[in-house]
Amino acid sequence: MARSRLSFLNDNGPIVKYCQKCGCRIPVSSPYDKCKECMKKELFPKVKEFINENYDVNEMVLAQEFGIDRSLIHEWVREGHLEYKKNPFRGDYRDM
Ligand SMILES: [Zn+2]
Repeated sequence: MARSRLSFLNDNGPIVKYCQKCGCRIPVSSPYDKCKECMKKELFPKVKEFINENYDVNEMVLAQEFGIDRSLIHEWVREGHLEYKKNPFRGDYRDM
């Protein structure tokens, strides 16, 4: 067995995490119980809806709302070509 594979194991033995949905392996360091793909499938439509229905949404708001990482939101927004809506009633909005 390669030594390097043991380096991330601690005294409690191998820590392995599996996606609750599809059962695939997810990084132990992941704070989530689902893999990225499943999270995306599940949450992306909601995120999209949220963006469409709310003004002044940004990554931080979404991350808080859905309890996921800002970088994930960022990825989805970019991949999904989602656009944050500006609040037409506020003049001092700065482009993100
Ligand atoms: Zn999964």
